[in-house]
Amino acid sequence: MPINGNPTTAVISGNVMFAFDTDFNATGGTPATAQQNYINAFRANVMSVWDNVNAPLIYNGNRVTVPVTFGPEVAGAPGWKLIAGNGNGTLAQTIFGPGDIRVPQSISFVDYAHETGYLFQARNATEAAHEFGHMVRLADRYSNGFRVNFTQPLPQRYPRTTAPLSRCYSKELNQEASATIGQPYDPYTNLMSSSMAVGGTLTNRQLGFVFSSQLEPTYSMKGWVFRADANDPERAAWLGKGETTLRTLAGVTHMVNPNGETTPCASLLLAYQFPSFRPLRFGTRIQANEEDRRVIRAFLRNVKSRGDEAAFRSVLQQLSAMNR
Ligand SMILES: [Zn+2]
Repeated sequence: MPINGNPTTAVISGNVMFAFDTDFNATGGTPATAQQNYINAFRANVMSVWDNVNAPLIYNGNRVTVPVTFGPEVAGAPGWKLIAGNGNGTLAQTIFGPGDIRVPQSISFVDYAHETGYLFQARNATEAAHEFGHMVRLADRYSNGFRVNFTQPLPQRYPRTTAPLSRCYSKELNQEASATIGQPYDPYTNLMSSSMAVGGTLTNRQLGFVFSSQLEPTYSMKGWVFRADANDPERAAWLGKGETTLRTLAGVTHMVNPNGETTPCASLLLAYQFPSFRPLRFGTRIQANEEDRRVIRAFLRNVKSRGDEAAFRSVLQQLSAMNR
């Protein structure tokens, strides 16, 4: 049973049930108490964005409210099922195959089609509002990538990182960024641009998916970000799987704005993508020049010479699955 939004009343209703994996840690209390505390924390994080008296969301002139029920799993009851654990319990085995590769980070996720999800307890439900966004049909707005720090031992050498998508990524995002109804798209604060509810903003277009039965089309792209650590002499670049396909859009990227800047998205690309993207010559295809290729070749040689190749491929495989 999906979690539905009523566009006339702005009420979001549904049922979310929690199952607790055998490796769910209840240190310091009874399992029942620890489980209920987890459910409470999850709900509170959802409500802090989706149903907050002090920062209400407005849709069609109505304040969004979320009388969704959050409770322990009831066998046979309709609704979403979220498994909370640490990835190594009995229930995890139904989700992670024995041959699956794990990245060291605990990355919670939900599967809309099957109304199920896996939540890593280590996140302390801080990802709840974002995951709830997926449960009400929203797509991620970041690119997956990794950083590299060759001074770290192998398990920590390629930590995952994400970069929010700028308004220049698509016509829709660009229009959202200039929207006059609701909150404009801001990559730094949008709920779906990060797995943490940093600012927790949502645009009117996003709410449009919440209050419909339509899934927001995904923004996934091929390719991963490679970002050198701040003190590392290597520069950030893109690594492509075959070919990176991120392009800035014609018509979006070369519009003239009233302030006279002929390419306003150029500065936005620099501003929003700086944390993980090497600033690129505007309008060019990512990873199209010889310098990029040199950086990547040097990086790959480094990976190989350290005997990291298998581990590195594992990271890429893991992240590409998440990029879907
Ligand atoms: Zn997400």
